[in-house]
Amino acid sequence: MALSAVSSASAPDNPSVSREATPRPVLFDNHDRPLEYLRLAVTDRCNLRCFYCMPEEGIKYLPKQELLTYEEMLRLTGLLAGLGVRKVRLTGGEPFVRRDLVPFMARLSELPGIEELSLTTNGVLTAPHVPELARLGVRTVNLSLDTLDRARFAAITRRDELPRVLDTLYALLEAGIRVKINAVVMDGQNIEDLLPLAELTRELPVEVRFIEEMPFNGGSHEATPATLPWNHHRIREHLALNLGELLPVPSHPGDTASHYTVAGHQGRLGIIAAYSRTFCGTCNRLRLTAEGGLKTCLYDQGVLDLRAMLRTGASDDDLIAALSHAFRHRAANGFEAESQRPLHQLNFESMSTIGG
Ligand code: SAM
Ligand code: SF4
Repeated sequence: MALSAVSSASAPDNPSVSREATPRPVLFDNHDRPLEYLRLAVTDRCNLRCFYCMPEEGIKYLPKQELLTYEEMLRLTGLLAGLGVRKVRLTGGEPFVRRDLVPFMARLSELPGIEELSLTTNGVLTAPHVPELARLGVRTVNLSLDTLDRARFAAITRRDELPRVLDTLYALLEAGIRVKINAVVMDGQNIEDLLPLAELTRELPVEVRFIEEMPFNGGSHEATPATLPWNHHRIREHLALNLGELLPVPSHPGDTASHYTVAGHQGRLGIIAAYSRTFCGTCNRLRLTAEGGLKTCLYDQGVLDLRAMLRTGASDDDLIAALSHAFRHRAANGFEAESQRPLHQLNFESMSTIGG
């Protein structure tokens, strides 16, 4: 596969696109942050109904013809690779709910400039595909898992699927694929699960990442108040109190998690201040929603309708110009992006459409 290939695509006629020292063109935004990472929501559909993501009855799914086709996603990803994107994460909805996902990943992995391909999955349908993922060169998978208790799993996700998720966890580890477990921290829902999840790192070489709950729940419940009961400080104190000293690991630009090790543990811990938004200063990502909306920040309401452009005959140059313009006009951080939204609340949206 061509994941390690470096593109020689030329920069569009745009002074902020290239930096002489970089091996290929990289687009920088208006806050001097590089474009490196694309999160691609391949569907809005899901086989779980996580309490923090969508209502029990699910969200109103888009008609199929309103989802981007794989061809459209490949075209956009190829253009973005020419602007600097080197890492692509597939997300959703649940990526494995969309048919022919793995052949699509194979084609993505061959795009010049794409060096890293990964995905975020709930793990219900994933285990049988693990050997193919390994063959494709996928090195890391993010697995969402908020509890190790079967009854609480069923209550949080509204489906009794914990055994299949655990099968995926062990299949990934056996295949030598790095696993990052994503656990959303929910007041009154899974606080007793934080330590058992963190304890996984004692014997397993996994990273367990605790994520502040955000209000993107599709109207499942009232938006979390700004005084988040379990913010990153409280999560860290809770873990340290019970596990012993958390030793900070230096982070890389673009990291959303603060990482820690615990003496004697094989794996490591991560805490993601997703609602407190402490990491915006080095944010290097774009999001493409399942319906082809471009988000330059998780908290914006979409800044460009790429599906409309694709389906009305936009040329590659038109698309590159629009993508570059959007990236060069980003909000400085998630608070600014949120303040620029029209009036409705964040919990009008579901993370299943945004892709996390
Ligand atoms: N279905 C896949 C899964 O659950 O892994 C991929 C899509 S899901 C929207 C991506 C990530 O967003 C998951 O790790 C999930 O836990 C996280 N997420 C969803 N809703 C959230 C919320 N309200 N607050 C914080 N994280 C959330
Ligand atoms: Fe589905 Fe993922 Fe949302 Fe849960 S978090 S409902 S698994 S999209």
